Amino acid sequence: LGFSTSGDCLSGDFSGGIINPETIDPTTKQRSSSATAYLLPVRDRANLTVLTGATVEKVILNKTNEGEIVAEGVQYIKGGVVGKAHARKDVIISAGTLNSPKLLELSGIGNPELLKTHGIDVIVDNPNVGENLQNHLMLGVNFEVGDSAPPTIDGLSRQEPEALAAAMAAYSQGRGPLATGGTYASAQLPLPDIQTEEGKQDLEKLLGDPAFQAPVTTASPTFAKAHEDFVRSVLSSATEPSGCYISFPGFAKFNGDGHMAPTPAGKENYFTIALLLMHPLSRGSVHITSSSASSTDMAFDPRYLSHPLDLEVAARHLRFLVSRLASAAPLADQLRPGQDPVPDLEAARNYIRDTAVGAHHFTSTCSMMPREAGGVVDHNLRVHGVARGLRVCDASVIPITPRANTQAAVYGVAERAAEIIKLQCSV
Ligand SMILES: Cc1cc2nc3c(=O)[nH]c(=O)nc-3n(C[C@H](O)[C@H](O)[C@H](O)COP(=O)(O)OP(=O)(O)OC[C@H]3O[C@@H](n4cnc5c(N)ncnc54)[C@H](O)[C@@H]3O)c2cc1C
Repeated sequence: LGFSTSGDCLSGDFSGGIINPETIDPTTKQRSSSATAYLLPVRDRANLTVLTGATVEKVILNKTNEGEIVAEGVQYIKGGVVGKAHARKDVIISAGTLNSPKLLELSGIGNPELLKTHGIDVIVDNPNVGENLQNHLMLGVNFEVGDSAPPTIDGLSRQEPEALAAAMAAYSQGRGPLATGGTYASAQLPLPDIQTEEGKQDLEKLLGDPAFQAPVTTASPTFAKAHEDFVRSVLSSATEPSGCYISFPGFAKFNGDGHMAPTPAGKENYFTIALLLMHPLSRGSVHITSSSASSTDMAFDPRYLSHPLDLEVAARHLRFLVSRLASAAPLADQLRPGQDPVPDLEAARNYIRDTAVGAHHFTSTCSMMPREAGGVVDHNLRVHGVARGLRVCDASVIPITPRANTQAAVYGVAERAAEIIKLQCSV
């Protein structure tokens, strides 16, 4: 279709098709994780203690004689027993996008009105905590493959004994579907047709139409404007991608309720292309609903599709996916003809409304930016309003969701954070 393939998605500048990198040990063919890659090699160090099965309840904050707020350690609960860990230097919260703001709020850092409602003393007034929640919107289209198509993993998904046995036999030699993640190839593509005069006019119309402007929210207008300018620049570019298309050799369907649908019981085989909206403008929030650390109840509102432009951009990518990408040889030759669930833009909009889910790539609830702009941590990951000893380091600090699945970006954040912390804590 004329798109480029940079071949290296770690180059920082990629657009077009790629073979996905996977976090799998190339020798053992076992999953790699932050634990196997970062923790196990240093697990025996005398200055490292890891406490598992412990839930941190709050950060212990104190006020110095000079009136500064400083973090002294954390309070946690393990096996019903409350304990305290004192920090000689810094406390680093890495509880993830949904739980790091929870810990800050339980510690008295957040929106004063919310904290007071739950009887928590306000130590740092910052209503940005837990706001700006972002996630990629995701949907999938399943195509039934023809008889001549290569094998898919549908037999494995249906737990067919022959398919399981074959997969296990292949895995014992480090090969086959169990030795890989399954989503082998993907493409990052710009807004469809933006290269053409017609496509440019379509976008201009959307961007200028009051019906597609941001809904009124309490979020920081400074950041909202910067975010929109950035997304506008991406959408207007013939090379900057706004849609990620991920292929999967089998049936994968997301139900509107967020659950995966089971593979149909018959003998049919499938090829799926998932579409992720890489730069959604819709932003949500996550907050505590009580002062209890053990409560898993959260006020979680992702507000997917609340910005009307997201639906329009996703609908154009979805139309492109079906009418052009899956209709082009050689892929089209492997699919049964006549499968088009979204024959026009309105059908694409309805398909998205009915089936789109969040892609589990939550970011941005403790964003790294100035407090006035909507930030929670500064450029050194230090929590605004706390003079010493408290940082956040996880996906929550990323102010604009990355143009990719988030795991590698989180490793990047963590490695950079390690450099900052080593430098600043050693002096
Ligand atoms: C189902 C699913 C599929 C995904 N697939 C992909 C993928 O294919 N590719 C990709 O790139 N990304 C994927 N992601 C996203 C990726 O996993 C996340 O972006 C990444 O793990 C975020 O890292 P984090 O360190 O910010 O948070 P987390 O990985 O969530 O780590 C936070 C940790 O803090 C712990 N914690 C929370 N609260 C407390 C507390 N009070 N006390 C003690 N511990 C606490 C949690 O138990 C957790 O271990 C997926 C996510 C999900 C959920």
